[in-house]
Amino acid sequence: MFIGHYGPAFAAKAVVKTVPLWVLFVAAQWVDFLWTAFVIAGIEKARIVENFLGLSPLDLYYMPFTHGLPSAALLSLFIGAVVSLAFKADRVAIVLAVAATAFSHWLLDLVVHAPDLPLIFDQMKVGMGLWANPYVSVPLEIGLMFLGLWFYDRVAPSPRRSGTVALWLFGFAMAGLQIHNTFLAEHPASSSGFAALALAGYVVLTLLAGGVDYLRRAR
Ligand SMILES: [Zn+2]
Repeated sequence: MFIGHYGPAFAAKAVVKTVPLWVLFVAAQWVDFLWTAFVIAGIEKARIVENFLGLSPLDLYYMPFTHGLPSAALLSLFIGAVVSLAFKADRVAIVLAVAATAFSHWLLDLVVHAPDLPLIFDQMKVGMGLWANPYVSVPLEIGLMFLGLWFYDRVAPSPRRSGTVALWLFGFAMAGLQIHNTFLAEHPASSSGFAALALAGYVVLTLLAGGVDYLRRAR
């Protein structure tokens, strides 16, 4: 899953308003940030097989360190704890909200991935395979993202119109990116090329989230 992961990030921002949106964007893709690094370093393995599952070319045959259930749970608690250290108040709520955002990544991957998410180390792999039908999975991803965005905008509205406009434009741009990536884009030939592209996408979206957050700050 790609854009859908940001639904929980937006929802968490509505709950822990002091945590910057860009931090929650990192949390939502935290295990994938590590996955991109591990694939580029050759620690975790994937191969590009056109139409492996629906239109997805990703055969994610070895990723126990980032997408195994126990590791994803531990990594989620870790990032929640690290982020909370930067704040003086509401530490428990921040640990929980950031860890939940990070762990939602695994749960949402579970819905769309082929059975490639190991329950223990590299064994007992699960995945419900919704990517097999991109005409269901893409609207689901976009819907999840907009649901979180709408909830955030409703619970913590921007003091200025520019902040509201920027947020919704950002949402529509992400929806367009998801459609482009799934239906139109050519896939990189190698798994490390794919990982590098994904990493670039996560970084750009995180920076844009920072910009949107800036426009929505109280002055
Ligand atoms: Zn993932």
